[in-house]
Order: sequence, then C-alpha cells, then structure tokens
Amino acid sequence: MRVDYIIVGQGLCGTFLSWNLLKAGKSVLVIDAPQPFTATKVASGIINPVTGRRIVRTWMIEDLLPFAIDAYTQLGQQINTTLVEESSILDFHPTPQMQQAFAERLPQEPTYLHLPDKEEDASWQHFFRYNYGIGKIQPALILHLQAMLANWRLYLQQHQLLLEETFNHGELVFNTAAEEVQYKDFSAAKIICCDGVAGFNLPWFNKLPYVRTKGEAIIADIPGLPRTQLYKQGITIVPWKDGLFWIGSNYVWDYEDVLPTVAFRKKVEEQLNYWLRIPYTITDHLAAERPANIERRPFVGLHPHQPLLGILNGMGTKGCSLAPFFAHELTQHLLHQLPINPLADVQRFKRVLADR
Ligand SMILES: Cc1cc2nc3c(=O)[nH]c(=O)nc-3n(C[C@H](O)[C@H](O)[C@H](O)COP(=O)(O)OP(=O)(O)OC[C@H]3O[C@@H](n4cnc5c(N)ncnc54)[C@H](O)[C@@H]3O)c2cc1C
Repeated sequence: MRVDYIIVGQGLCGTFLSWNLLKAGKSVLVIDAPQPFTATKVASGIINPVTGRRIVRTWMIEDLLPFAIDAYTQLGQQINTTLVEESSILDFHPTPQMQQAFAERLPQEPTYLHLPDKEEDASWQHFFRYNYGIGKIQPALILHLQAMLANWRLYLQQHQLLLEETFNHGELVFNTAAEEVQYKDFSAAKIICCDGVAGFNLPWFNKLPYVRTKGEAIIADIPGLPRTQLYKQGITIVPWKDGLFWIGSNYVWDYEDVLPTVAFRKKVEEQLNYWLRIPYTITDHLAAERPANIERRPFVGLHPHQPLLGILNGMGTKGCSLAPFFAHELTQHLLHQLPINPLADVQRFKRVLADR
C-alpha cells in the first residue's frame, strides 16, 4: 500500500501532523502502539502565557495562543468534541515576596496579568486558605487532550489510517533511487517521526540534545470546586476528564524509573491539606516523561542528510502550544517548501547529525 506520509506516533505531534496533512489532501498512515502513560496522556493540557518566577511571556506566545485556539477548535469540530476552553489561572501568592513580584510585573504585562477585584479575591476564601492575595493570568487555555487523542484515533481507525503496533526502525528501508521509504507492506514519499521520548533512541536522531524530564500528577475528586478556573500555588489544579481534577506537577531529571513516587504523592497531599478548605479524594496517580531538550526549542523538519525522513519532537513542557503551530509549519514546508522557523528547524543540527 502506498501513502504520501508515514507518521510514527499519535501524541500531540502525530495527531496535529496527521490532521494537517489530511486537511491538505495528502494520504497518511499513522503507526502508534497503544501505551497507557505517554506525555500527552498524562499532561494537564494547559497553555499558560507566562512562565517562571519572573512571570515573563513564554516563547512566541503572541502567535501560538491564537493559533492554538483556532487549531483545537477546528480539529474539535471535525471529531465532534470540544477540545479548547478559554480560562484564567488564579495565582495564589504563597509569600509576600511573590505578591510583590506579581504587583511589579502587572503594569509591564497588561495583556496577560490582571488583579481580581477585592470581592472576587475574597470569594475564593471559601475554597482555599491564602494570605497574600491572588493574581490572575488571562487568557489561559484548557485543552481536553484525552478526548482529542481518543477521538482522533477513532477517526484514523474508521478511515483505515492507523497501524496499531510498535514501529521497528530496523525494518525501514530508504529507497533513495525511487525517492520513497518502505516499511513492511507500505511505501511512502516520506516518514515523519513524532514518537516523543521513544524517538530519543532512533539511530537517525539520537545525537540531538534531548533531555528526559519526568513529571507526575495526582488525579482527585474535589466536589464543589468550580471547573471554570485553573488554581496555582506551587502546584496547579486543573479541571480534568470525568469531572475530576489534575494536580501537579514536578520536574525530575534524575530517576531510575517512570513510576509514580510516594514522595510526590506525600508532597501534594501536604500542600492540599494546607491550601484546600474543602474535602478531596485522590483517585489516581500518574507519571510520564516529557520529550524535552537542552535548548527548549522543538525539533521540526527534514533530516539534514536524509530528506526522506522528518521529525516533529522535542516539545518539552509546551507541547500543547508548540505542536499545533509547528505541525502546521512542517506541513507547509513539506507541501510548499515554505521555511520553518530557524530556531525550531532541525537543519540547525546539520553538523551534529552528519555521522549517519
Ligand atoms: C506531567 C506532565 C504534565 C504536562 N503538562 C503540560 C501542559 O499542561 N501543557 C503543555 O503544553 N505540555 C504539557 N506537558 C508536555 C506535553 O505533554 C508534551 O510536550 C507533549 O505531550 C509531547 O507530545 P508528543 O506527541 O511529542 O509525545 P507523546 O505524547 O509521548 O506521543 C508519542 C506517541 O508515539 C508513540 N510511539 C513512540 N514510539 C513508538 C513506536 N516505536 N511505535 C509506535 N508508536 C510509538 C507513543 O505510544 C505515543 O503515543 C506535560 C507533560 C507531563 C509529563
């Protein structure tokens, strides 16, 4: 069977790339082995326009945020699912210093930073214990990633575009003379790797400056807590699927396995016991690795020395905003040779990737 593109992986990257290519009239085969704890399955699914203790704008957010609203809305319409909700993050200042830092940034960042009025600030005392006021980050997005993965998978299955098995790179043949790749019974003009942390081991891309970052999340039932907001005080509470809340996360660079830890659960419980004034029940505890990298910029485009092979990976902590945008940019590059942002284009690693 012949298709235009083989895509390995159906996380955020593979979903948006396959959707873009199909929308452009191309044929695809997505190869994805079902796994319970991938980055996209464990993620909270938020786009926060600011970051860090200095509360600065995240990279390219002015472009990424409106693009994401549009992309998730359109994909959602195709699979009859609401995938995106505009929301705000209530930032409960944990110390007077953090309150001061927010107040200082407020006039410099009026697009995203706001102060709730006194009445709204006080109204959250019923749910939370806090002494130093609340800042508001708005707009922020809540994305329903679980529904997106499940329903896009169903779409691919219904159109016979999904191969549910583990991709074995040893069986891929680059037929340079015919300008195509062959994989088992399939051939394609190109193959694009959207395989998250598993892709770190691929011989073609394993020299990229990847970093694995483990992250955990507690899933809890918090009856009565409004589902219209995100709540942050060190940890973040996010409305999640099935009426539950996602609570996390941590960033761990040194670990022996990708299992949930007792230490993280204990830390979250201690924090919730102090912060929340209403009862909660923990229902689950998840962990996964983020496909991050040293530069904090994604890997997008065609292999500098093998044009039959491409990549969309390295989304790190920001896959929700980066994946839709760069899946579109990669599609435009594949179809019309339009340039990829040089800070994201994997061509910047031409020398590093020269050996293979
Ligand atoms: C705890 C946590 C919280 C997060 N919260 C957020 C957040 O709020 N906002 C945000 O923007 N980002 C967040 N992230 C980061 C985000 O999840 C990632 O950037 C994003 O999901 C990466 O998507 P991906 O498609 O590259 O990888 P993945 O989601 O890992 O998808 C890769 C897919 O490829 C498949 N695959 C891999 N190898 C093979 C193979 N050989 N054969 C077949 N299939 C294969 C896997 O099964 C998987 O389905 C979070 C991550 C974690 C861990």
